[in-house]
Amino acid sequence: MAYATTNPYTGEVVKTFPTATAEEIDQAVTGADATFRTWSQTPVEERAAVLAKAAEILRANKRDYAETLTLEMGKLIGEAEAEVELSAGILEYYANHGAEALAPRYLRAEGFGDQDVALVNDPLGVLYAVEPWNFPYYQVIRISAPQFLAGNTIVLKHASNVPQSALRMVELYRQAGAPENLLTNVFAGHDATDRILADSRVRGVALTGSEGAGAAIASAAAKNLKKSTLELGGADAFVVLEDAEVEKAAKWAAFGRHWNAGQVCVSSKRLIVVDAVYDRFLTEYRRHVAELVAGDPMDPSTTLAPLSSQQAADDLAVQVEKAKAEGATVEAIGAEVPEQGAFARPLLVTDIPEGSATSQTEFFGPVTQLYRAKDEEDAVRIANDTPFGLGGSVFSTDIERARKVARRIDTGMVFINQPTGVKADVPFGGVKHSGYGHELIDLGIKEFVNQKVVVVSDIDGSF
Ligand code: NAP
Repeated sequence: MAYATTNPYTGEVVKTFPTATAEEIDQAVTGADATFRTWSQTPVEERAAVLAKAAEILRANKRDYAETLTLEMGKLIGEAEAEVELSAGILEYYANHGAEALAPRYLRAEGFGDQDVALVNDPLGVLYAVEPWNFPYYQVIRISAPQFLAGNTIVLKHASNVPQSALRMVELYRQAGAPENLLTNVFAGHDATDRILADSRVRGVALTGSEGAGAAIASAAAKNLKKSTLELGGADAFVVLEDAEVEKAAKWAAFGRHWNAGQVCVSSKRLIVVDAVYDRFLTEYRRHVAELVAGDPMDPSTTLAPLSSQQAADDLAVQVEKAKAEGATVEAIGAEVPEQGAFARPLLVTDIPEGSATSQTEFFGPVTQLYRAKDEEDAVRIANDTPFGLGGSVFSTDIERARKVARRIDTGMVFINQPTGVKADVPFGGVKHSGYGHELIDLGIKEFVNQKVVVVSDIDGSF
């Protein structure tokens, strides 16, 4: 796919960029490898200072950075500013706590003293990061902040519709004092994956994206015996039990399903409401969704953004037609949306046949799947009836009960009484078709370090 900035609100192609040649890709890896040799030897305090400075720059230029996001993928300007703030928070987290996460761990081993057997965390080398467009800064920061603190370097392949966001991340680190090629952007095609992963200087790959991309990247990584982490799609269950605060739950659901125009891996995509409160919940949910106002994402009064591209809107419409063909009921519950721009009108999908493709699908836009559950047991069954296992929510006023239900939901994250959230200091990751591995806190940093054992023996000791 060609790299281009196309404004999803106006349809205007603002700027295009040529796809990288094989030579340019090799040069990118060469640069990243050369920088790794010095960066990995740079004291951790100096590495942390670059991250702290990058956070400061983001905060000082929040609106300017935010506007690039809104221009390229249509995010509401307020949500774009929140993404800049979240990215700054992650940089700051690692600047302040990264060294702690990398500290050696001493093991108790028979016949050795307290500090004789250590697990130290050494950087691996050059990593390849393949990232999606839905959070163009956050996704890059989520992988780069921990890995730069650990001493690794990164070659970045960003989504083809956010090339300027990719370049802004490179510029950000350079302005923060990073050496050249700490973060190297390549406008690589899909066919470059094999070339990059076959390069012995590249030691691992992190992908955030769809299941299809996950399968392609994980296969290439396996063929080349490289470590991979996959952060893939989701169809988060949003379970409302009969003892929930129904009005609050409905308000949260409308937010959870429609922020970022519904294009979040952890959007509240499947609402599962027990029979006793279903009607009351639905009335409230409809009311909140009907209040959404679609329009110019740069206008702070707009509450429903366009999708990231006309292609995304067309793909969503095809999924909805398939749902209808399978016997589901589809109803418009949001107000009409402008004709100009890649908008999708909020829809409600009910009567989804059990075992249908629709019940197993991730709708990446403002389309709500709603299920009526008989009771708690039935709600858990529906929640787990999906190939995905990313996040999920449970709403109940009985927190102990909600905790027990949370443990039965087969996902990497469950939030009680709020939609799945994204925070700088809470780890992120899924199971099943949502991928493997973690990002953020110490779990994220450890994905791409060599946890090396160093044993100190008495020279006269015997085996
Ligand atoms: P996508 O098509 O998989 O794209 C994501 C990235 O992968 C882009 O840079 C894309 O490049 C690249 N890519 C796609 N296929 C590839 C291949 N065969 N070889 C090499 N690179 C490839 O994903 P999307 O549909 O745009 O993004 C939304 C998906 O990401 C959703 O499923 C969403 O749930 C998931 N997501 C997951 C998380 C998480 O943390 N779990 C977070 C955000 C999004 P091009 O742009 O050049 O095609």
